[in-house]
Amino acid sequence: MSQYSIPYGRQDIQQADIDSVVETLKSDFLTQGPKIHEFEKNFSEYIGSKYAVAVANGTAALHLSCLALGLKHGERVITSPITFSASANSALYCGAEVFFADINPNTYTLSIESVQKLIANKPKGFFSGIIPVDFAGFPVNTEKLRELAKEHDLWILEDACHAPGAYFTNSNNEKIKSGSGTYADLAIFSFHPVKHIACGEGGMITTNDKKLYEKLNILRTHGITKSELIKNIPNANQQGSWYYEMQALGYNYRLTDIQAALGISQLTRAESGLERRNNIANRYRDAFKDVNIKCQRIIEGVYNAHHLFVIQVQNRLGLYNHLRENGIFAQVHYIPVHLMPYYQDLGWKAGDFPNAENYYEHCISLPMFPTLKDEEQEFVIEKVLEFVN
Ligand SMILES: *Cc1c(COP(=O)(O)O)cnc(C)c1O
Repeated sequence: MSQYSIPYGRQDIQQADIDSVVETLKSDFLTQGPKIHEFEKNFSEYIGSKYAVAVANGTAALHLSCLALGLKHGERVITSPITFSASANSALYCGAEVFFADINPNTYTLSIESVQKLIANKPKGFFSGIIPVDFAGFPVNTEKLRELAKEHDLWILEDACHAPGAYFTNSNNEKIKSGSGTYADLAIFSFHPVKHIACGEGGMITTNDKKLYEKLNILRTHGITKSELIKNIPNANQQGSWYYEMQALGYNYRLTDIQAALGISQLTRAESGLERRNNIANRYRDAFKDVNIKCQRIIEGVYNAHHLFVIQVQNRLGLYNHLRENGIFAQVHYIPVHLMPYYQDLGWKAGDFPNAENYYEHCISLPMFPTLKDEEQEFVIEKVLEFVN
């Protein structure tokens, strides 16, 4: 038995979080109350977007976003094969078709060149949108992507689940945070406990577009609204303040106030958590710089949110088992989505995306979370080096 049991990720719940939740449990609203708006306001301030819409989870955020963007049956969307399957599934929920483009072998995010290649030999209007993923916390350069999107009339939905607080530097030397709404139409986040901010389950959509914001608000709650009423009902002027209308086919994708209360409290530690994640990442990089281990590329002006710390090694299965034997529970992110049996049934196959598949053969995610202790990280490093050398 090892002295340690170290997961690859872990939530950090403190007394302030518990107090925040208990206070809401004792309040009048468990859902549809004031904590939702407070969380949305604080989150949009943190991310730098005009608007934020809290929803039940990251997958619901993706689905609602696709709906708000008007994605329909028969339309086509591009995403990365190296992501959680929800990034791709959300387009399928709308009856659209998913296309993948290969990743950049150094940043592990969607390669703009491979997207360009995919679009180049198709007629204009063939694709409706693109869902880039800020993989492991590495923010996609949405400025470059926007140029491409403009040319081809695509919307951009940024899957920023891994990257709250991450930024890249644009051509005007401005820091552009993931989800700030500067270049992407919409961005989505998840508050699953393994992500930066834990709500149990939860998600958020951010945007600078008022129309999309209003659509999302209505779609989140059954398509029901009490404003901008149509009133095509008998005795229209005899309707009191109970009156509401279902104007679109929406869903119940609401977050509860209990979850929002937890999120509000967690958000106050987001910045310090991010700093800690970067310290941990720097220590890993330093420890592995002289051995045959590849880390995600560092690019000047890019601040990585380090949801994950992925390394690539020759013998991944061997290292995985060696770490497990020592109580270190590394993980693998991700099995390429196009190789999932469901997607293979849709026609995708091994060999379609060599960079993504080669990445998958070698990748392993080491423990990365703010409460990882220095001595625990030392132990992880020691065990990794012991195996690789
Ligand atoms: C976690 C995650 C999701 C889904 O979020 P849930 O809250 O679990 O539904 C989507 N995309 C990426 C990249 C994720 O990591």
